[in-house]
Amino acid sequence: MSQIDPSPLKVFLNELHSQYKSVREGAVAKYIPELAKANPDLFSICIVTVDGQVWKVGDWEQLFTIQSISKVFAYGLALEDHGLDYVLTRVGVEPTGDAFNAIILDEQSKRPYNPMVNAGAIATTSLIKGSGPTERLNRMLDMFQRYIGRDVFVDISVFTSERSTGHRNRAMAHLMLNFGMIDRNIEEALDLYFQQCAVMVNCQDLAVMAATLGNRGINPITKERAVDKRYIKDILSVMYTCGMYNFAGEWAYKIGIPVKSGICGGIIAVVPNKMGIGVFSPLLDVRGNSVRGVKVCEELSQRLGLHLFDC
Ligand code: GLN
Repeated sequence: MSQIDPSPLKVFLNELHSQYKSVREGAVAKYIPELAKANPDLFSICIVTVDGQVWKVGDWEQLFTIQSISKVFAYGLALEDHGLDYVLTRVGVEPTGDAFNAIILDEQSKRPYNPMVNAGAIATTSLIKGSGPTERLNRMLDMFQRYIGRDVFVDISVFTSERSTGHRNRAMAHLMLNFGMIDRNIEEALDLYFQQCAVMVNCQDLAVMAATLGNRGINPITKERAVDKRYIKDILSVMYTCGMYNFAGEWAYKIGIPVKSGICGGIIAVVPNKMGIGVFSPLLDVRGNSVRGVKVCEELSQRLGLHLFDC
């Protein structure tokens, strides 16, 4: 007989996993053809504390593409490249209350609304410095490597699948070019955006990345600095207010921690100075957020008292 694990958190994660594994609501993303092949049964939860302890359950080794979760980290890199004041002149920080791919721009301030929706993320990515596309991609991959602690790769089939079908994102980029919100070659900016979305991660990577943000920018496993400490509060603020698109207000109210979701079914959530949470389950609700991921985070927040204003 196997020994009983003494860790109450491990027991709790196992309970959560078996409780929500049976939830079959939602559907996998289909608008990027390659993503429609996702296995809806996959499900994993991982917690990494800021002192480097790791708890994980389910299919935590399964690789998938990071998708919109990449927007958080690209925003950090843009802040490091240009500083907050300049980045704020190019991308706002106002929640849209709208879908991730809504074609809405703040024409008054001449900016996309925030870096967590597609328009804002494409504009953010267009700010990444480098002498050409290869250097910009390498800088992006190096940045992900610092957060994750190992070499990372772009899933070429997902990248090319999105590149050849991403007409909506391309339309947004053209609109932003028209309004003078993007000034670089938009095809290059879109390529880099599609590549960052196609970076492959697993659920443990998500939790390590979240814990790195929670640990003021230092990866708690490798101890390497991934991002300048001075930008952590800017990154976490925009995750808190905009990370779940048209579910952001309800998330902030009920669950109360900075978060970001991705269309592959990943969610990262950050408990500052405590831990990072990663959940992966490809079944999505109508807003493009993982159904099981939201439920697991809600339960974790309630049971562990994680809501930032729960004092
Ligand atoms: N690459 C996807 C897109 O631009 C990312 C969307 C998401 O994860 N919500 O549509």
